[in-house]
Amino acid sequence: MPIAWRRWGGVGALALDDENLPAALSRMLALAQERNLDLDFHADENDDPFSEALRHIADAVLRHEFPGRVLCGHCCSLAVQPAADVVETMARVKAAGLAVVSLPACNLYLQDRQPGRTPRWRGIPPLHELRAMGIPIAVGHDNCRDPFYPFGDHDLLAAWAIAVLVGHLTPSEWIGSITGTAADLLGVDGGGTPGPRRAGGFCGVCGPLLRRIAGPSPKRSPGVSQRGRGDRTPPQLSPIDGIGAASAGCWSWATTA
Ligand SMILES: [Zn+2]
Repeated sequence: MPIAWRRWGGVGALALDDENLPAALSRMLALAQERNLDLDFHADENDDPFSEALRHIADAVLRHEFPGRVLCGHCCSLAVQPAADVVETMARVKAAGLAVVSLPACNLYLQDRQPGRTPRWRGIPPLHELRAMGIPIAVGHDNCRDPFYPFGDHDLLAAWAIAVLVGHLTPSEWIGSITGTAADLLGVDGGGTPGPRRAGGFCGVCGPLLRRIAGPSPKRSPGVSQRGRGDRTPPQLSPIDGIGAASAGCWSWATTA
């Protein structure tokens, strides 16, 4: 069910991959274009390799030459599809100018959940591959203390920390997923690097907190084992150094995806 999202001039919807999806997307894109609205989809929040809502959304955007911004959240099933299909879908996503937001906390909680069986997969889209294609990636948090995810408090840093762990993301390379890139996708001022009086600005406590989340200090780096070989190179945190020296205020947001 579409939900009006007045502040940002957008409309959100859950895109289920069934026989009605192409027509429904065409209708939604036409209505959004008439009203000059951006679009925000929940898509492919499952581990079904035949769930290709993301590809349908990209195709619809290309078909209609939709001029607005389109964000697709979850996109989990892309990670379990054949490699050639993943490449083809990512190419269409890139061509359509879509962006992707990953919601790692609730997807870790929900995906691959079966009674009496330990989950085997991580419930995130292929983040590295998407970004390598030049597709903007943000990290966020949707469900909070509800039947889909009974924890959390919309703490953006906590969501990012989970993404760093579960996606093996290099903190200094992925801080933009909750700062500059995320701000750009929301259409608010402050794209680029985090700093005072920008949408990506953090409160004073967040700089040290980021550092604590992102990794150990060089002097006490325990190293990272990579296929049996020790890599003792500490994380490079320069893009987040200095955060918290001054700031306009604390913020966080929860993406609607
Ligand atoms: Zn969602």
